[in-house]
Amino acid sequence: MGDEQITTIGGCYACKRTFSFIPASVTTVTVDPETGLPPGMTVLGTSREPTPEALARSVKKPICPDCIDKAKAFLHPPAPQFDTWPRGNPHRD
Ligand SMILES: [Zn+2]
Repeated sequence: MGDEQITTIGGCYACKRTFSFIPASVTTVTVDPETGLPPGMTVLGTSREPTPEALARSVKKPICPDCIDKAKAFLHPPAPQFDTWPRGNPHRD
């Protein structure tokens, strides 16, 4: 198709590692530069309604693939084993 995938060098928001990425396809996180945290998240790790000012000044920061993998593992932990779940169907005729 001739699509030029121009890579950029940047620092990962999560681990600060410098990595190259394609801006059009990189995963980003919105960060309020004043706090260094996503708008609405406090330094205590709790969340609250982000202020319009925080949203307005927020910028998107890239996340490196390693951190995405870690985040996925965090968000989607290995499913519990249901293999031993009883197979019987109580509503069977
Ligand atoms: Zn990273």
